[in-house]
Amino acid sequence: MEQLGQNASVKTITTTLQRDAFIHRNAQRFMTFRAKARGAATYSKRVGALLLLLSLTVCNMPENRSKTGESATPRAANEQPAASDPAAVHRRAVAIDMHADTVQFIVDEGADINLRVAGVQLDAPRMREGGLDAQFFSIWVEPQVYGFKGERAVARADEQIAAIRALAERHPETWTLATTAADIRRAADEGKLAALMGLEGGYAIDEKLESVERYYRAGVRYMSPAWSYSLSWAGSSGDPAGETRGLNEFGRRVVGEMNRLGMMVDVSHVSDKTFWDIVETSTKPIIATHSNCRAIANVARNLTDEQIRAVAKSGGVVCVVFYPGFVEPGWNEKKDALDRDIAPLVQEAGRKAVGRGSARRIARDRVREREYAARLAHVPLARVVDHIDHIVRLVGIEHVGVGSDFDGIQATPRGLSSVADLPNLTLELMRRGYTEEDVVKILGGNVLRVMEEVERK
Ligand SMILES: [Zn+2]
Repeated sequence: MEQLGQNASVKTITTTLQRDAFIHRNAQRFMTFRAKARGAATYSKRVGALLLLLSLTVCNMPENRSKTGESATPRAANEQPAASDPAAVHRRAVAIDMHADTVQFIVDEGADINLRVAGVQLDAPRMREGGLDAQFFSIWVEPQVYGFKGERAVARADEQIAAIRALAERHPETWTLATTAADIRRAADEGKLAALMGLEGGYAIDEKLESVERYYRAGVRYMSPAWSYSLSWAGSSGDPAGETRGLNEFGRRVVGEMNRLGMMVDVSHVSDKTFWDIVETSTKPIIATHSNCRAIANVARNLTDEQIRAVAKSGGVVCVVFYPGFVEPGWNEKKDALDRDIAPLVQEAGRKAVGRGSARRIARDRVREREYAARLAHVPLARVVDHIDHIVRLVGIEHVGVGSDFDGIQATPRGLSSVADLPNLTLELMRRGYTEEDVVKILGGNVLRVMEEVERK
């Protein structure tokens, strides 16, 4: 979830025939063969469409992509995909997204993400298309609405947790609630989607240490101390208080309790001072669930090279986020200028909105998203991969992952407009020379390693 009221809804799928969009479509079709190499697969039988696609692919894909064409006919059981086939590499990998805000749509709009939902960036069908095995759902409490602590904040978090648990309980053929690395591997083997949870901001722990264990027992496996607003015990990168606020004594005890229980500590959104206090306090690997590099896009939500080195030194992972404002330098300034232009439209939409919870914010965001798509230049997917490259150059392949922030962002890179587009990321990585082993680490292997480390008592 990004900044004040920045929540995405209506997804505008780009229809241009630019290169990224072209790769996107090809990859998406290939991923209808979402048959895990491990077994349990069902092949699409749309051979006619795929033969057409094969010819398009051979004509248009970069040369090292041409082998993807072999996916266009269902493989015999003993036939192994070529090592350089990005679609095959993608579906063999256990893919984990560390951050999406889809729960807001479930609790406030009644979205049933077991089905394809218009206007969200993540649901079960799109996860299947995108070859995503596991999703960490953000349990996000908007402090301006529900309080920085107290009963309402607790209730808002609990409501979201209940929604994710209900999703897995009602659709056990599709979803499984996961809390460990082993759970994720098992789900991937069984062809199920793993649902996990992380708290985005510690408002709902209500300044009580015992709440950390309560959320752990409810299934929450990471927490970022702050979202865009500082709390009494931790500073945020999003407000002036965060400029001088780190962890206080209680905040340090919270981190210690997370370490003890085996809950990952997330540094996305925290202030720099809080970041360094976490580094000093945590005895386990730390993670950034959805942050990029300040060396490329110099915004407070991204990490400096020094911070990326510290995450790596802890054994942790920086998971790159797809929000254009954190991907592309200067994008936020253009967005801010446009925001001033469209402010009357946005306010009007909020006034007219009916419904509970975040309904007003969602209505405002829908206008923002429509206007951003129409009036701001699209950021290419390749720019996201530039951040991955930077992290890899800085600290190696072991410390980078993916945290899309889908359904928490009002604009997406071209070629990454929903989770269904995730194979495009693998295409671009392999185009740049990343091997299958590298891709497996980036898509989820590194996160599994951190989870196992943090789970160890
Ligand atoms: Zn966020």
